[in-house]
Amino acid sequence: MLTDYHVHLRPDEPETTAERYFTAENVERYLAAAAEAGIGELGVSEHVYRFTQALDLWRHPFWEEQACDDLDAYCEFVRGTPLRLGVECDFVPGAEDRTANLLESRDFDYVIGSVHFIGDTAVDHPGWDVWEGNGDADEVWRRYFEALAECARSGLFDILAHPDLVKVWGKGRPLPDRDPRHFYEPAVEAIAEVDVAVEISTAGLRKPVGELYPAPAFLEMCVEAGARFALSSDAHLPEHVGFGYEEAMKLMKDHGVEEICVFEGRRRSLHPVGAGAGEPAR
Ligand SMILES: [Zn+2]
Ligand SMILES: [Zn+2]
Repeated sequence: MLTDYHVHLRPDEPETTAERYFTAENVERYLAAAAEAGIGELGVSEHVYRFTQALDLWRHPFWEEQACDDLDAYCEFVRGTPLRLGVECDFVPGAEDRTANLLESRDFDYVIGSVHFIGDTAVDHPGWDVWEGNGDADEVWRRYFEALAECARSGLFDILAHPDLVKVWGKGRPLPDRDPRHFYEPAVEAIAEVDVAVEISTAGLRKPVGELYPAPAFLEMCVEAGARFALSSDAHLPEHVGFGYEEAMKLMKDHGVEEICVFEGRRRSLHPVGAGAGEPAR
């Protein structure tokens, strides 16, 4: 089984309207790319902050600018296609109950939890850049992985997105001097406690850092902690679907990860990873 669950039907630019990208023709392009890549399970997970309902969770100016569409119209559209229905939902500290309400009142197949922001600035958004100003690498990495731990522990999510996103800029931003395993530790502890699937994401290969998420040392700690894994590309275009999967499969093989998570109605099953539909492992 191969999956691609962390997929966006439209690019991130605000002018990319739902009307233009949530269409049968666009879905066809993604399905064709998935078939070509041997991906048996394809799902979409638009950013929660593109929907007006997200403003109940947070009123960050970036969210206010982005929140244009209706979440229920998106769900209804996806349900009329062969795609699995997911959403990429930021963890908003203090909004756990409102987040649970938003997620539980829709019939998602899975929910991907993300940390993009720490406080009011983001680790990956120019314009809201955490690195502007003081940008102390130890402090930013510490706060990022603590937020990721909280995100995992919230129990709101089935999958933890791009788990070491803080490295996205690679050498383009300050990097901490100390061994990164020190920073991973609190997140790995939380992952071990709550049994959330850790996303192996090939998106980092397309970013300045040029590596998979998570880094091999982080993956190794997750494996030792007994974590389960989900496989995705974080595609924002059809040609990103299944991008870099050979590298992801090599990383998994090197670390003894033989199964990936498959989701339906927020229930998880484990399947042997590899091309072809495969039979459930359990
Ligand atoms: Zn993300
Ligand atoms: Zn994404």
